[in-house]
Amino acid sequence: MKIIDGKALAATLRAELKDKIENSNIQPGLAVVIVGNDPASRIYVRNKIKACGEIGIRSFSYELPETATQKEVEDLLDALAEKDEIHGILLQLPLPKGLDSEAAMAHIPFEKDVDGFSAENLGLLTLHKEKVVACTPLGIMKILENEGVDLCGKHAVVIGRSDTVGKPMAMLLLNANATVTVCHSKTVDLKAICRTADVLVSAVGKAKFVTADMVKEGAVVIDVGMNRDEDGKLCGDVDFENVKEKTSCITPVPGGVGPMTITMLMYNTCITAFKE
Ligand code: NAP
Repeated sequence: MKIIDGKALAATLRAELKDKIENSNIQPGLAVVIVGNDPASRIYVRNKIKACGEIGIRSFSYELPETATQKEVEDLLDALAEKDEIHGILLQLPLPKGLDSEAAMAHIPFEKDVDGFSAENLGLLTLHKEKVVACTPLGIMKILENEGVDLCGKHAVVIGRSDTVGKPMAMLLLNANATVTVCHSKTVDLKAICRTADVLVSAVGKAKFVTADMVKEGAVVIDVGMNRDEDGKLCGDVDFENVKEKTSCITPVPGGVGPMTITMLMYNTCITAFKE
């Protein structure tokens, strides 16, 4: 059994991106927009801005109050879309209650969609003509690649079908020739399905949701969940201590998927900046 070091892989990829930026005559620029006072969102934004600075991406931070109107958010996104020095725009979700995130995101042009959430980028992913892919699923693919996991013909089970994680994850695995099952809250006999998984990805958001009896001997287990346990400590979806011995490799939380997500945001910003 191997515990996958997402932090180490992230550091390697960030060093490669830093080199690439240093050797380019374009300085990638990322605008991060946050609306309201959600404490978790503020931490995520701070981490993203710090990570950008470390590799030479210029970041532009915009804060709107909790009381901002839909129009104010959309006007700001429209203004950022016009700025040449900004190659990527990230709208931190969730937005405060009453604001329509889908309508707001439609104001981020495809060329600056570093989250890969736009209809165009999702369509390209579905057509296996990927351009910018959602950061978390993309980071997971990099982890699997780095571990030498051969997905061809393997049964991959994804628990969770969100537009931001579960669905793009399933599509990437399908594009890599895995046989993919997507499970969700209405799935009947989740345990039996999971037990047949060669690769199991959990993106549910419930601590200790994936238990040892749901995991096949030798499976690869990827834990996307970011939850708090009963002591308030950060933990994933997987009952890590009991599951790990059954796996061939497993991502921990923290230190698994999380560091790769931010790294892929920078990777995507380079794609839009360098028009790759
Ligand atoms: P989400 O939008 O809430 O989706 C959760 C999914 O889990 C839904 O599809 C839901 O099914 C499914 N689900 C809920 N209860 C279930 C059950 N009992 N059995 C089977 N499926 C069930 O969450 P998300 O945005 O995808 O995020 C999932 C988790 O990943 C969260 O903990 C989030 O914080 C974390 N996350 C981590 C990173 C990272 O970088 N590490 C990035 C993004 C998200 P229905 O569709 O039927 O409701």
